Amino acid sequence: MALDVESLARRVHVADGAWSTILAARCPGEARRTEMLALTQPQATAGLIEQYLAAGAELITTHTFGVTPGNLKRWEVQSELAEVIAGICAVFRRQVPGKRAALLGDIGPSGKILAVREAPEAELAAMYRAQAAALAAGGVDAILLETFSELAEILLALRAVREVTALPVIASMSFDSGPQRTRTIMGAEAGQCAAALEEAGAEVIGCNCGAGIGSILPAVVAMRAATRRALWVKPNAGLPELEEGRAVYRTTPEEYAAHVPTLIDAGANVIGGCCGVGPEHIRRVSEVVRKWAGRRSGGSLR
Ligand SMILES: [Zn+2]
Repeated sequence: MALDVESLARRVHVADGAWSTILAARCPGEARRTEMLALTQPQATAGLIEQYLAAGAELITTHTFGVTPGNLKRWEVQSELAEVIAGICAVFRRQVPGKRAALLGDIGPSGKILAVREAPEAELAAMYRAQAAALAAGGVDAILLETFSELAEILLALRAVREVTALPVIASMSFDSGPQRTRTIMGAEAGQCAAALEEAGAEVIGCNCGAGIGSILPAVVAMRAATRRALWVKPNAGLPELEEGRAVYRTTPEEYAAHVPTLIDAGANVIGGCCGVGPEHIRRVSEVVRKWAGRRSGGSLR
């Protein structure tokens, strides 16, 4: 069943935290391809789904961010893209209760820059169509396009998704550049991106990843000023620091949750987390959301 985006816009909801960075810390042997854990060690993925639901997450993202034809080749996976996505979706669909939480089919950026023609547009569009079709077949309630830096690429992805499914689309970009962190690394400005994504028909618009929850407010304010659509906010637990060759995120659950009231006041409708944000961060976020936004009424998400 499709996500009820109008219900999403009426109050503040809690989403899940990170997948790759949390699973990489738990399963270091698979750190390079944590998406495949859903198939090779399903209990690791299922356990984290359980923890996010228990922490109060009402929106759960399938761990399919990096499942692209190029990555499957790099990961030496023989199975087809559709088969891998179907297997990951099955683990998530089994764990995520239909009435209490919505399941979002996650698609990340290609890693190619359209502006310098690193890949033909037709090739990328075909990849997004294949990913979205497989996620829709896997029973997700909406498609999530996240961590995009190039406006042209997320608009291309949005058009491609629309060609294969009528599910609502959440379009989220990463703003980690400029003096106020309101620009993507490609220079696209948050308000302009929000306006362009609304114009292109994205049902939910937002920002994720980036430079940490402490610096995401200006991008949220700029997006809120440019769109009335439900606003999705999933920052990182700070900027990563290298420790013995691995990235660590230092913002504690308490520090993370302390930013949530300001983000709600700025107009965020969904608050979750990206890199370095784990179940304990989400539990603290849920407590704050219940306290600060509990008086706003809303119905079921599906
Ligand atoms: Zn991230």
